[in-house]
Amino acid sequence: MSTKNIQDTLKPIVALAKRRGFVYPGSEIYGGFANTYSFGPYGVELKKNVKDLWWKTFVHERRDMVGLDGPILLHPKAWKASGHLEGFNDALIDCKACKGRFRCDHLIEETLQLNADGLSVQQMNDLVTKNKVKCPKCGAQDFTEARHFNLMFHTHMSKTGSDGDVAYLRPETAQAIFLDFRNITDTMRVRVPFGVGQIGKAFRNEITPGNFIFRVVEFEQMEIEYFIRENAWEKTFEAWLQDMHKWCKLIGLSPSRVHEKEHPKEQLSHYSKRTVDLVYDFPFGTSELYGLAYRTDFDLKRHAEFSGQNLEYTDPETREKFIPHVIEPTFGVERTVLALLCDAYDCETLENGEERTVLHFHPRIAPVKVAVFPLMKKEPLVEKAMHVFKKLQKLWLCEYDEGGAIGKRYRRQDELGTPFCLTIDFDTLENDTVTLRDRDSMKQERVPINQLIDLLSEKLI
Ligand code: ATP
Repeated sequence: MSTKNIQDTLKPIVALAKRRGFVYPGSEIYGGFANTYSFGPYGVELKKNVKDLWWKTFVHERRDMVGLDGPILLHPKAWKASGHLEGFNDALIDCKACKGRFRCDHLIEETLQLNADGLSVQQMNDLVTKNKVKCPKCGAQDFTEARHFNLMFHTHMSKTGSDGDVAYLRPETAQAIFLDFRNITDTMRVRVPFGVGQIGKAFRNEITPGNFIFRVVEFEQMEIEYFIRENAWEKTFEAWLQDMHKWCKLIGLSPSRVHEKEHPKEQLSHYSKRTVDLVYDFPFGTSELYGLAYRTDFDLKRHAEFSGQNLEYTDPETREKFIPHVIEPTFGVERTVLALLCDAYDCETLENGEERTVLHFHPRIAPVKVAVFPLMKKEPLVEKAMHVFKKLQKLWLCEYDEGGAIGKRYRRQDELGTPFCLTIDFDTLENDTVTLRDRDSMKQERVPINQLIDLLSEKLI
């Protein structure tokens, strides 16, 4: 798919995200700042619902999981041990004519339709030269040699700013879990198999910008390190793969758009013996949403070696000592939000020929659950509507809206993905019932006010 098409297919979603306060371009008043975004008032609610549901599903509702909130800045030695200082690189190539900068593997994939995973820098250079690859931006055929570029952002810890004071912003949250493995086994009553879940920011100095919030330089990960005995890795891997599919269904992604992609053996990361990505059919192509990796005992062993500490686990019954192996399910928050927006987005033509834009979010993750309207901005309708709103607001994020035609108020909520709207009309004053309008079917039913909470509780689970 060409860049133009990518932009065209994402365009209405990006426009809606901005218009309705989900996602704004970062530092916009200064002309923007590449690959950074703000989550607006509705975006932050959507993101929070995703993270809260993830924590509830994978930490609170399981007896074999605990949580952690580790630091973004880890001891620099940790990144040596993890292999990130040496190996967390992409090959970068510049167009001498227009100064465009590209990830060399992406350039090859786009222009030559070849899979460049696992190729060395030399092999990529040869392919670019041999095939006379042209710059996708300006058409020139004048590239620099491709070279390695480490994706970790670095900063300085002290005032001197000398090289010795370098600290790295974590490119994945996982390492903090390994560093605290012994603290967790010492302080908690966990027994292998058990897992540690963490949600937090990660930073990657990505070379190529990417498709709205798909590839950004600052993002959140929801990660699990699940510690096991080596001989249990295959069945644990399968179980997590199924749990990851269940999660996709739980948040309302269409199962037909979620697929598995096995990484070929020769293209696995330095720490992995098996990796399967869950990929999603984004408008710009099928791309990685989540990853599941068998990291073996690589990380704990390396940290034990580099720190000089004993990171063995002792079985409390048999007193057997061993370094556990690890299965790692990892979930990107921004990619989840993007998949949810793409999956939910619809522009429908109604029977009367009007167009309606709607986000069909699952009620579980929709930012606003219920909107309450008085039919007109008139007493006693307003007072009654306020009364209902205040009652519901204690339980869910609700909106109150009294301005403009009722049809327009419905359309606004449709674009926010609000699953239910309640209207207080003149019949309400007579019989204490309201109309409950369903976003997807647009059907309305009359419901007694005293049954509202029970009814909505059932629908919002
Ligand atoms: P890609 O191949 O797309 O660069 P990756 O394989 O490097 O991704 P992982 O290292 O497996 O990604 O990271 C775990 C998860 O973090 C990914 O599945 C994705 O959801 C998310 N993620 C990784 N990089 C980014 C990024 N630059 N922007 C947003 N989310 C990201």
